[in-house]
Amino acid sequence: MTSPSIVRTNTAELYDAHVLKNYARAPLTLVRGRGAQVWDDAGNAYLDFTSGIAVSALGHCHPHWVAAVQRQAAELIHVSNLFRNPQQGELARRLVGRAGPGRVFFCNSGAEANEALIKLARLHGMQKSGEDGKCYKIICAKNAFHGRTFGGMSATPQEKIQKGFRPMVAGFSFGEINNLDSFAALVDDDTAAIFLETIQGESGINPCTTEFLIGLRRLCDRHNLLLMLDEVQCGVGRTGRFYSFEHAGVTPDAIGMAKGLGGGFPIGAMWVRERFADLFHPGNHGTTFGGTPLACAAALAVLDVIERDGLLEKVRAQSGPWHEALQQLAADFPRHVTGVRGMGYLVGVQMSSDPSPYIAALRERGLLAPSAGGNVVRLLPPLNATADELAKAVAIFRDVLAAKT
Ligand SMILES: *Cc1c(COP(=O)(O)O)cnc(C)c1O
Repeated sequence: MTSPSIVRTNTAELYDAHVLKNYARAPLTLVRGRGAQVWDDAGNAYLDFTSGIAVSALGHCHPHWVAAVQRQAAELIHVSNLFRNPQQGELARRLVGRAGPGRVFFCNSGAEANEALIKLARLHGMQKSGEDGKCYKIICAKNAFHGRTFGGMSATPQEKIQKGFRPMVAGFSFGEINNLDSFAALVDDDTAAIFLETIQGESGINPCTTEFLIGLRRLCDRHNLLLMLDEVQCGVGRTGRFYSFEHAGVTPDAIGMAKGLGGGFPIGAMWVRERFADLFHPGNHGTTFGGTPLACAAALAVLDVIERDGLLEKVRAQSGPWHEALQQLAADFPRHVTGVRGMGYLVGVQMSSDPSPYIAALRERGLLAPSAGGNVVRLLPPLNATADELAKAVAIFRDVLAAKT
């Protein structure tokens, strides 16, 4: 047995020596989790409102999820898409049940789900124009984040993401969210789709209004464009509805999802409306790992618990008082907090300056929360967080702000 301090030193040294330096990591090695709590290698407990960046929808090691994954791991893990497996069929049925008539493609991450959407747009453009490579343009949003692949990066107009990797994929242009005219002005004969997040996550929790989303739907209908929504961060219950666009009552033509879907197991998915589902045919898209029995069993366990425990209703009921308590923080500490935005358990606390010192102070007091663009502290509790845990996070935040005044 090695002592915890030796393990801790080794892990930090191993990272320093051997792990690619493409992340700015907190000086913390996590070794165990249960519900909304995680423990580091020195035995310190933290309330985890990072949730692996909106991934651990049921918190850590939920017993139903663990049992489902253990059972499936002992039964059948991977067979490829050269064959059917029961879990993939069932998961597709459940997601179609949530989104509406259509079909589902499975992959392994948000970026891959979005790649599939971008390829769908190209196929739609080919059908629309009758020519390959003519109608290929996609209108996205300023401050968007869609992932780190070439398609995702090209749809993400941020210098810190694109720098060093140019040239980007051709055909992306960018409107301003909640400014319908700025999108309408970008539509031309070669436009195939509009693609955006209903609530921008990475750039600081910026929600699209209902009127704007309805306006985009009409714009797409008028010009035969696909309305494609990136629900990778805001989907799977995080806002208190399974898909965040349900709040606006619009129906998209395609949806990208990942993050919370597997509850910690990597899985991504694209849902395509029935009308456009036949644009894909055997051979024009695929991935080896997509929709394995194990990944789909993990996602089915997430959906089971969301349904069985009424987590969507619970998120909606608890987020009202929780948001109020956070708004009160803004009112009490206006020098530090200038606003609180978001829906359900996707919340951004707008700080007046760089959030890093606040995030470090929260961590020292036992709360893990990620930052987001534009000086925002993000709070992403698991969907089954208790009212006590939500209140405790506010209390820790209050202590940090009081100590800085
Ligand atoms: C995280 C995220 C992605 C990228 O997902 P990965 O699984 O990291 O590839 C894409 N879109 C949005 C909105 C995200 O939040």
